[in-house]
Amino acid sequence: MTNNISKVAKDAHRIAMEHGWWDKDILARRSFGDMITLMHCELSEAYEEYCKGHKVDEVYYQKNGKPEGIPMELADCVIRIFDFCEANEIDIEKAILEKMEFNKTRPFRHGKKC
Ligand SMILES: [Mg+2]
Repeated sequence: MTNNISKVAKDAHRIAMEHGWWDKDILARRSFGDMITLMHCELSEAYEEYCKGHKVDEVYYQKNGKPEGIPMELADCVIRIFDFCEANEIDIEKAILEKMEFNKTRPFRHGKKC
């Protein structure tokens, strides 16, 4: 697993840059709040797919070949997170692994949260 997350994160950012999503004119009008909102939007799109009756693991395709469905919206969310992390020099792989190690030490259903 190590190196794969970092590689995918770098690729996500490279592809976003190649498609103009980090050009100065866009950066000038995007705040941190905007970026977080865009990540949330992808989760809302996943919920919309669920509301339309699609199964959580269902992937379907538009006529132009675009993959759709809950897995694709979850992927969009991760791609946005990875892109943001790379642009801001956040080592997301390190953060994920560190947080997972900490989570191992937490009590069963810590805090009885949902
Ligand atoms: Mg989407």
